[in-house]
Amino acid sequence: MSVNKILERLGTHRKTSSDQWLAVCPAHNDRSPSLHVREKEDGRILIHCKAGCGATEVLDAIGLTYSDLFPETDEHYSGFKPVKRDVIDDYVVELWNANRAAGKLPTAEEKERYRQALANGGKPNNFVDELLDSL
Ligand SMILES: [Zn+2]
Repeated sequence: MSVNKILERLGTHRKTSSDQWLAVCPAHNDRSPSLHVREKEDGRILIHCKAGCGATEVLDAIGLTYSDLFPETDEHYSGFKPVKRDVIDDYVVELWNANRAAGKLPTAEEKERYRQALANGGKPNNFVDELLDSL
């Protein structure tokens, strides 16, 4: 999904740099925009709520899933390559690790998704570190 479509679903947001936005988090009672949204060069979209909401909670609140954080087409890649499942699993594993490091307990759904991601061979690859570094 494109970052514009995601921002549309999030509602109130503002652009903070050429590839970053700040939006009102849909997963908690957000009085000042806390949700950082960043579009990477390869089309992946990173989301991070400064108040501590998990990505699953944020996505659930706007009716999306992890796969919506990846480009629908290959416009950012050479050749036709649909989004690979293992890339999504890597992202799920990394978000879990980040949440755990922050002392946040996963929801039952997040646990199940994490279990699936591990079974699929998901592993951290610094998506979340890159996002946190950019804040
Ligand atoms: Zn939040």
